[in-house]
Amino acid sequence: MKLNLTPTGKKTMKNYLNNEIFCSNEELESINGVIRDTQFFIDTQCARETPMHWWKESYIEFILTPKKEGLEKYIKACEFKLASFKKQKPSVGSGVSDVEIARAKEVPIGSILGTNKTMIKCPLHNETSASFKIYTKKNRWWCFGENVGGDAIELLCKMNNLSFIDAVKKLSK
Ligand SMILES: [Zn+2]
Repeated sequence: MKLNLTPTGKKTMKNYLNNEIFCSNEELESINGVIRDTQFFIDTQCARETPMHWWKESYIEFILTPKKEGLEKYIKACEFKLASFKKQKPSVGSGVSDVEIARAKEVPIGSILGTNKTMIKCPLHNETSASFKIYTKKNRWWCFGENVGGDAIELLCKMNNLSFIDAVKKLSK
């Protein structure tokens, strides 16, 4: 589903995302604090091989760390969404039209990468197992290894180190 937001809707969404990022960062900071305190307790207060030691270590590993990682992912996803609102349209006379941009965005990601698969090794970084997902319906991509993603234009920009304009020109030919 594509969101067609009005300018007011966009503003509301931006405020919401900024607020989510702010609050999540606060929460992340407090979790980091608890991890530090707990680690300090482990290091100084309790003898190894005691139930308390085991419990504190498990608390870090199974409770705090997953929370921390979840928050970090969420913040990245919010920032990613926010960036898509901030994207500037190229000004008139820059060489590409809205029609060309739309056409470029429609070039299937799979055809750019020469694959029919939806989960492949990332073309943007070296990896041994596939963490690059292609969302064929939306024609977007996401690398779970790097937590970055985008559309066809952004992919070509990153892959070939091209500017937005050059990527659009190349794709819309
Ligand atoms: Zn990657």
